[in-house]
Amino acid sequence: MKTEPFWTDEFPRPDDMSVTNELPSSVDVVIVGSGYTGLNAARVLAKSGASVAVFERNTIGWGASSRNGGMATPGLKLDISKIIKNYGAELGREFWQASVDAIDLLDTIINEEKIDCDWHRNGHCSLAYKQSHFDEMEEYAEWLDKEFGHKKTLVAKSEIRNEIGTDAFYGGLSDETSGGLQPAKYVFGLATAVGKQGVLLYENSQVKPIKKTSKGFQVSTSNGTVHANEVIVATNGYTDLLVPGLRPRVFPVGSYIIVTEPLTGDLKKILSPKNRMFYDSKIFINYFRLTSDGRFLWGGRNNLSTDLDLIDSAEQLQKQMVSVFPELKDVSITHSWTGKLGVTFDLMPHIGCINGIHYANGYSGHGLSIATYLGTELGLMLTGQKDRSPFEEINTRMMPLYRNKTWFLPLAEKYHRFLDWMS
Ligand SMILES: Cc1cc2nc3c(=O)[nH]c(=O)nc-3n(C[C@H](O)[C@H](O)[C@H](O)COP(=O)(O)OP(=O)(O)OC[C@H]3O[C@@H](n4cnc5c(N)ncnc54)[C@H](O)[C@@H]3O)c2cc1C
Repeated sequence: MKTEPFWTDEFPRPDDMSVTNELPSSVDVVIVGSGYTGLNAARVLAKSGASVAVFERNTIGWGASSRNGGMATPGLKLDISKIIKNYGAELGREFWQASVDAIDLLDTIINEEKIDCDWHRNGHCSLAYKQSHFDEMEEYAEWLDKEFGHKKTLVAKSEIRNEIGTDAFYGGLSDETSGGLQPAKYVFGLATAVGKQGVLLYENSQVKPIKKTSKGFQVSTSNGTVHANEVIVATNGYTDLLVPGLRPRVFPVGSYIIVTEPLTGDLKKILSPKNRMFYDSKIFINYFRLTSDGRFLWGGRNNLSTDLDLIDSAEQLQKQMVSVFPELKDVSITHSWTGKLGVTFDLMPHIGCINGIHYANGYSGHGLSIATYLGTELGLMLTGQKDRSPFEEINTRMMPLYRNKTWFLPLAEKYHRFLDWMS
């Protein structure tokens, strides 16, 4: 079993990606981090004629953007009903619409930039782990249709095998707007596209201090120092102490994935007849899908730590997977890996600015389409093509005494396990 992401093993970073080591003395915008947020901001800025440099401390796309489940689904991490309760009906409506638009935006970018990333819009099905969760799904589907005209289809337990090859769930809720892709192909495709548009891409280039000057910013990197009029920090779950005040707003949580060897015979069709994306209704959520070459991918965690042993993690995930799909008992696991989610205390994504440095982060595990959207929004706002975003209009909730060390995670873990048991 390999302890590296299947996605980059299947599709390594293309050799012809135009990374450089030569640093100009100044650019319009420096972007720190080369995932979906940073590259989508770069795309908009470059198209409007700005000179842009993206610095990545590892290789391009190395973070969560090449490690995730590749599932684009509407909504945000926090339930839309809670979002409305917290922020009011008007902003709530905007957040919901943004989450739906984000999937269309992803679709448009993939088509416009001709990114071959196995994107297919076959929908998703969320699965009720308990009867009470299915009852809540029924109410939720009615409410969503009434409030936003968004249609989801309730799938009774008796019909669940049309969606998924197991009787482990009490029913589900399917949604045709969702889709899936190969994350590494998407992030490398984006980087290749922005490289062609003139964006300078730097690898193994960590951004260290950023100093404010009278004319903008002096940015120190492993490649040297560059002057920038604007700086965007797009480091999400990998945010360090680079910008004082940013790390207390977003903390890292580990998510873990395994994939099997390619499934043989009819098993693919039996397990996923419509080739949907799936997730269950637990707080310690499991998410699963087929890959394009017919492997079964199973992701999740029952621990919030970012440094679990990948062999132990594979054993745990395999047990969970086999309890839902006994047919996979003797199927080998070929890859086990992890990545960091950037989670906020209010579970909301944010766009903001600290001492003139812009940022977008906090997707809390729901960032494939939303990071694409917020990176684009930030680019549109910096080029004056948009004058506001709902994601910059809400306050960030902070945790007293949290600066860098996530001392509260073991407590949160116990609490969430209790909630899963109770619900
Ligand atoms: C295992 C896993 C599964 C997931 N599954 C899904 C899913 O199915 N659907 C979904 O919607 N979302 C999913 N997500 C979330 C999604 O992947 C992320 O929200 C999204 O990729 C965030 O993109 P980003 O560009 O903001 O950050 P990232 O892609 O994490 O990029 C940040 C980059 O910043 C770099 N960096 C940090 N500090 C510095 C520095 N000082 N100098 C230079 N570079 C720096 C890092 O090396 C990193 O490459 C998942 C995440 C994980 C980890």
